[in-house]
Amino acid sequence: MIPLEEAQAEVLAACGPLPARRVALDGALGLTLAEDVDAAEAVPPFRNTAMDGFALHAADVASAAADRPVRLKVIGTLGAGRAPSTGVGRGEALRIMTGALFPDGADAVAIVEDTRTDGDTVEVLAPARPGAHIRAAGDDIAAGQALFPAGTLLGPGHLGVLCSVGGQDVMAVPAPAVGVLSTGDELVEGGGPLEPGQIRDSNRRTLLSLLARDGFRPVDLGIARDDEEIIETALRAGAESCDAVLTSGGVSMGDYDYVKAVLNRIGRMRWMQIAIRPAKPFAFGVIGSTPVFGLPGNPVSSMVSYELLARPGLRRRAGRPDADLHRRPVPAVVDDGGWRGARDGRTGYVRVSTRIGDDGRLRVVSSGGQGSHQLYAMAQADALAISPPGVDVGPGDAVDVLRLTP
Ligand code: AMP
Ligand code: MG
Repeated sequence: MIPLEEAQAEVLAACGPLPARRVALDGALGLTLAEDVDAAEAVPPFRNTAMDGFALHAADVASAAADRPVRLKVIGTLGAGRAPSTGVGRGEALRIMTGALFPDGADAVAIVEDTRTDGDTVEVLAPARPGAHIRAAGDDIAAGQALFPAGTLLGPGHLGVLCSVGGQDVMAVPAPAVGVLSTGDELVEGGGPLEPGQIRDSNRRTLLSLLARDGFRPVDLGIARDDEEIIETALRAGAESCDAVLTSGGVSMGDYDYVKAVLNRIGRMRWMQIAIRPAKPFAFGVIGSTPVFGLPGNPVSSMVSYELLARPGLRRRAGRPDADLHRRPVPAVVDDGGWRGARDGRTGYVRVSTRIGDDGRLRVVSSGGQGSHQLYAMAQADALAISPPGVDVGPGDAVDVLRLTP
């Protein structure tokens, strides 16, 4: 058996980032920025009012009070999106709405709550501080300012900022297209009756969904029978058309584990026995230059293998920086129950549910059956507790967990 870290290093070495290309902003969510971006424009682009009210001269209303209102002449109304036709003189007020371009001459806003309108005059009931409620041009973003460095993960706010400075597209690393192939004579698609010995293919739906969750582009390659020729055809097509391929099944020690044989022939592969439980068998290599992950067939194993090995490699392919490839272990406390550490030197990845305790600490309990075929408990889990070999764990014990958030 080899340590998990050795397998992860092998994966990362063969998962180079895809070449960056220009991407329209409406397709850029979740991608990694491949250039440093500066602001082409200032935001806001002009001085404007932050409140509904009246633009006026602060000096005119310095003595205003509820019982001694100051009366000013209203020279017009200005909504957002319009330009004022004149400036504001002494003794005058311009009614303005939030976001409206702030007129010349005026230096203060009397908010609408501090005023009483009367025909074409307004009574101001409180002083207005010069500059208050006025947003200067560029007070969010200055023109020419450095915005986001290469490596930024583009989220909704980043895309909004890029729009606000007039951006249309960015250089970004595209999301890798990842093919998913199930293998096995026992597998059935869809909802028809099961013949004896058959099971339904669940791995493909799970893996396609994990890929979608993580912002990759899932590509369904279907089910391949346990037949060398069929598996070879499917793998060649997948490696040709995708940026990476995930297979499940056919990589352990069974008589019909042909995935191994085919990949050996058409790819440069390494077969690994990793010192983890579940997901000990794992194959990884390349067909041409396309990384291929041979995940184990057991449903929990294929998911754990995805989380620990495929996901980091695919994130690297998607341009994520090295510091952002793996989930970081966070400390937690076992709430209730517990589990035995493996006696065969393997590190356990125990399916657990988390909650925040009254003391603010993260608390975990086993989410159910821990067999590598028991997908139900994996579905209920929101974290994997890292269980060192030989160490039994009970209530109150400290454990590190990997939270399975997107
Ligand atoms: P294998 O690695 O092909 O020997 O498969 C190990 C176990 O996982 C067997 O019990 C298979 O029936 C099961 N298995 C393999 N592929 C799938 C799949 N796509 N969906 C559900 N179970 C599977
Ligand atoms: Mg099989």
